[in-house]
Amino acid sequence: MKLNIACIEGDGIGPEIVTEAKKILDKVAEVYGHEIVYTNVLMGGASIDVHGVPLTEEAVNAAKAADAVLMGSIGGDTTTSPWYKLPPELRPEAGLLGIRKALNLFANLRPAVLYEELSDACPLKKEISSAGFDMMIMRELTGGLYFGERYTTEENGIRKAVDTLTYDENEIRRIAVKGFDIAMKRKKKVTSVDKANVLDSSRLWRKVVEEVAADYPEVTLEHMLVDNCAMQLVKNPAQFDVILTENMFGDILSDEASMITGSIGMLASASLNDSKFGLYEPSHGSAPDIAGKGIANPIATILSAAMMLRYTFDLDKEADAVENAVKTILRKGYRTIDIMSEGCTQVGCKEMGDLLADEIN
Ligand code: NAD
Repeated sequence: MKLNIACIEGDGIGPEIVTEAKKILDKVAEVYGHEIVYTNVLMGGASIDVHGVPLTEEAVNAAKAADAVLMGSIGGDTTTSPWYKLPPELRPEAGLLGIRKALNLFANLRPAVLYEELSDACPLKKEISSAGFDMMIMRELTGGLYFGERYTTEENGIRKAVDTLTYDENEIRRIAVKGFDIAMKRKKKVTSVDKANVLDSSRLWRKVVEEVAADYPEVTLEHMLVDNCAMQLVKNPAQFDVILTENMFGDILSDEASMITGSIGMLASASLNDSKFGLYEPSHGSAPDIAGKGIANPIATILSAAMMLRYTFDLDKEADAVENAVKTILRKGYRTIDIMSEGCTQVGCKEMGDLLADEIN
C-alpha cells in the first residue's frame, strides 16, 4: 500500500519525537511491504519564523492532499517565547485551531491505557489499578457548548452571560457512526455519555445513538450520565471500552482518563473527519523545557502513528505490531526519564525509537 503522510514536526520536542515516529513507520513499511511518501508541512512557531503566520494556505492544501497528518506538537514557552508577544490570531496555537477547522476534524479520539509495567504511576488504589484499563474516549469536537451562540449583556444593571448548547441529529449521527466503527475494531462496547435527565440536547443524543446502534448488532451499547461516568472512571475504569460523548463532557472526561494513566509521554490522540482522513498527534505539548536535550519520550507520538495505521489505513496487523513493540520494550525495563522507575534502564528519545524499531520484524 502507498501511504501519503503529511508531517508537521512543530516546535520544541516536536522534531525529535516525529523523527522517531517516522523511524517506526519506515520499519513497518519495510517489514510489511508498504511505501511511505512524507510531505513536510510547517505549522505553529516554525511557520511563524518562516512565513510570519502560524498556518498558510499552502500548508492546509498540503495536509488536504495527504491521506493523513502526523504531528509533533506546537508552541513554545508561553512566558519567554517571542511568539506569545504576537496577537492571539498569529500565535502558534491559532495554527492548530485553523487546521482542525480547515480539515473538518469533528471526532477526537484519546486512548487511555494503563500498562501493567507503569501501573505504579496510576494515582488510583492498587486494588483498582491492578485490573488495568484500555479505553478510548471519543469526543465530538466541533459542536455543542463551545461553538454555540454566546454573549454577555446587562439587564436592569445586572450582568448576564449566555452560552448555548446545540446539536442537530446529523452532527450526533456522524460521531456515533465513528464511535461504533471504532468499537468494532476493539472490544465491541460503547458507553454513550450524556445528561439526558436534564438536557434536551442529551435526549436527542441518546435517541440518535440508539438509531445508529441498530446497524451494529455486535456492539453492546450502554448509556451513562456524565456525573456517574466521572465517578466510574476512578472507581472501575476497567469497565470501559469506547466512551462516546459530546464536546464539553468529552473535554473533561478525556483529561480525567489521561490523569489516571499517570504518564503524559504515553498518551496518543487522533482527530478524524467523515472520510478516513485523520490528524494524529500526542496529547502532550511541545515541552520547551526539555527540547533539544534528547530525553523526550517519543512513545505518545509512536502510538499516534499506530492509530494512523489502524484508523486511516485499516492496517490493523501493523498497528498491533507497533503497540506490541511498546509493551515488549516496557516489559524489558527500558524507560525514558518521564516514566523512569527504580531498577529500569533509562534511555533517550532516539534510543527508545531504535529499541522499538528493532522489535518490529
Ligand atoms: P507540555 O505537555 O508541553 O509539558 C508539560 C510537562 O510534561 C513538561 O514538564 C514537559 O517536559 C513534560 N512532557 C511533555 N511531553 C513529554 C514527553 N513526550 N516526554 C517527556 N516529558 C514530557 O505542556 P505545557 O508545558 O503546558 O505546554 C508547552 C507548550 O506546548 C505550550 O506552548 C502549549 O501551548 C503547547 N501545547 C501544544 C499542544 C499541541 O500541540 N496539541 C498541546 C498542549 C500544549
